[in-house]
Amino acid sequence: MLDWSDTTTIPRPPEALVPNPDSVIEKIGRDLIDRSGGRVSIDDKAMINCRADVNQLLPLKYKWAWEKYLSGCNNHWMPTEVSMQADIALWKSRDGLTEDERRAIKRNLGFFAASESLVANNIVLAIYRHLTNPECRQYLLRQSFEEAVHTHTFQYIVESLGLDEGELFNMYREVPSITDKAAWALEHTRHLDDPGFKTGTPESDQAFLRDLVAFYVIFEGMWFYTGFAQILSLGRRNKMVGIAEQYQYILRDESVHLNFGIDVINQIKIENPHLWTQPFQQEIRAMIATAAELEASYGRDTMPRGFLGLNAALCETYMHFIANRRCAQLGLARVFDEAENPFPWMSEAVDLKKEKNFFETRVIEYQNGGALGWE
Ligand code: FE
Ligand code: MN
Repeated sequence: MLDWSDTTTIPRPPEALVPNPDSVIEKIGRDLIDRSGGRVSIDDKAMINCRADVNQLLPLKYKWAWEKYLSGCNNHWMPTEVSMQADIALWKSRDGLTEDERRAIKRNLGFFAASESLVANNIVLAIYRHLTNPECRQYLLRQSFEEAVHTHTFQYIVESLGLDEGELFNMYREVPSITDKAAWALEHTRHLDDPGFKTGTPESDQAFLRDLVAFYVIFEGMWFYTGFAQILSLGRRNKMVGIAEQYQYILRDESVHLNFGIDVINQIKIENPHLWTQPFQQEIRAMIATAAELEASYGRDTMPRGFLGLNAALCETYMHFIANRRCAQLGLARVFDEAENPFPWMSEAVDLKKEKNFFETRVIEYQNGGALGWE
């Protein structure tokens, strides 16, 4: 247990570190703080273009954002907890995997390896600045760390399997069907990471919404889902079970990221109904339809022949099913004909409980404050 009661042994700071109220730097610091601004009340808080102090977390306005921050923390995991022994043996064995399976696995890893960084950079460099609410920012800080854990996962897989790191981390530049997706997403974040970009006009607020749709709904909410389905389908056949287990943890994180993004967009709509015009809704639906088409070509490229339980046509149907579902979550009319979910087992994978999953993993105790020694 930590003991905070004994304060008598705290050494005095050296003279130079004692605050000096007359120092010029501290005076400038005080000028930066708006001392007449008053305390923030719930009604002052807003998702975008908010003038209320972003340093006052409480009182909470958006409970859904805080709850997602808490579930993110409860879902904590690290890739290195997952044993890669079975995967290493299978990857090195001569006939454990077909050439088609190897190609699909490598491209899948290559897509995710760079995508996790693209998503992380978009949060930190584009979204964070313009989302003017402290509880949402609290979640973004948690999500950024989770994206770092996901990127770490691909480093760990590359190292464990002895894959060519240059090949894998450059696929988003070198494999056209992956480049197409990355380029499409980057186009939507381009305005936002321009340091001169500001929200506050209908046009720039809509540009911000487009970025949120591109990254939360499409990148994380559509493309990642077909990627998960590919690896989890192999895992269900007892192939690459270590990677499959890591993907289950990533999927659980991503389902919270996606739901956060949907809540953010819907809340911005409620507070700024003038942005959600008919033409804009059409534009968002067109973005979702284009993204599904990009995913279908990626599916044909990664699985030209397909293998047991998985092929490009099934992935395309799944993408249509998911695209319609995302439209419904945003209150938009669906973009494809009603499609049946070809991977119904994906929904049980989303509901994974950490303590027990279908690969029978172990329960992990995290080091907590009680285990730390300060001596
Ligand atoms: Fe991620
Ligand atoms: Mn994510």
